[in-house]
Amino acid sequence: MNKHELTYLKEKIEQLKNDGVYRELPVNYGPCDNVINLNGHEVVNLSSNNYLGLANHPRVKQAAIDAVQKYGAGAGAVRTIVGNYDLIEQLEDLLAEFKHEDAVMCFQSGLNCNIGVIQAIVDRGDLIISDELNHASIIDGVRLSKADKAIFKHSDMNDLRRVLEEKRHNYKNVLIITDGVFSMDGDLAKLPDIVALAEEFDAMTYVDDAHGSGVLGESGRGSVDHFGLHGRVDFIIGTLSKAIGVVGGYVASKKETKTWLSHRARPLLFSTALPPAATAAAIESVKMLMESDEYTTKLWDNATYFKEKLGTLGFDTGHSETPITPVIIGNEAKTMAFSKALLEAGVYVSGIVFPTVPKGTGRLRVMISASHTKDNLDFAIAQFERVGKELNII
Ligand SMILES: *Cc1c(COP(=O)(O)O)cnc(C)c1O
Repeated sequence: MNKHELTYLKEKIEQLKNDGVYRELPVNYGPCDNVINLNGHEVVNLSSNNYLGLANHPRVKQAAIDAVQKYGAGAGAVRTIVGNYDLIEQLEDLLAEFKHEDAVMCFQSGLNCNIGVIQAIVDRGDLIISDELNHASIIDGVRLSKADKAIFKHSDMNDLRRVLEEKRHNYKNVLIITDGVFSMDGDLAKLPDIVALAEEFDAMTYVDDAHGSGVLGESGRGSVDHFGLHGRVDFIIGTLSKAIGVVGGYVASKKETKTWLSHRARPLLFSTALPPAATAAAIESVKMLMESDEYTTKLWDNATYFKEKLGTLGFDTGHSETPITPVIIGNEAKTMAFSKALLEAGVYVSGIVFPTVPKGTGRLRVMISASHTKDNLDFAIAQFERVGKELNII
């Protein structure tokens, strides 16, 4: 056998095909917006995280262009060498002001932030307690840490209390980690209860608000603001890749966190800084949020409208508390068939099935955006109705 044929990968790919989970990556031939050119067909885009429509906003694009003129295309180094250009510092100060926190440290993405921050802030002799449905990048960050790990049942405060009662006394520092918004169901973490338990047991809290920042709270300040918990969550993670419409991640915390991370967070030490275009574009987006709640208001109006219409048609839209709208189908094959038929009708909604969600809870996950017009939404609703009836889903 010729080793360079990578036969073992060919066999694995065959297995994907046999399991019916093989897929090819769709190609978008233009900007990410309300309507996209996917694989050469115009479709209403109900599957992006571009909640506020800022990814293709003229002001945000112009900021990126201007930054390229002044700073060039790349940062040229990691931040600890010469990659720490002034725009990054500006972005961090602006985000700290926006989030009402002492200091912010930016990373190249939300995933980078989780894998960099978690291993830097807890160590051997500490314990991480993590919600069982936390995002994959949290799971990876936890795996990289030398701390011990424990899991609590999803949003189950009795189970979190049980873990704290059983284990707290064995450890120096304890860190409770949760998503702010859970991305598969759109439900919120029970942050007030988690914070109260953390205070009772002298534990720290870490909230990954990737789907909450730009969406919840005053002008999109996030779930900590939504619940009025300023000053009581130790580490607040946000992404610049979703509502902010660009790329990047950050942690908002105390000044000491920022200082410590500048010495120990591996993505800052060993991977090149955010490019100037992205940094400048993110600054512009955050400024737009601070100037007006126009975008977050439109997002929520669109989401409320869409959910009400689908509910009236008889679809099961789960228990989402955010613009993430799951349309629960159940059967995996039927879920994928529904997604495919909608695409043919001009509406792109990704189907999500096991193992991303539990068996028998296959769903389409509709991501509503402020960029959708009422016509876009009405068109999509009409296709949901027609195809849903054809497939006996409603
Ligand atoms: C999307 C997401 C991330 C990753 O953010 P990127 O900036 O896209 O890397 C991290 N955490 C959660 C909870 C997310 O939903």
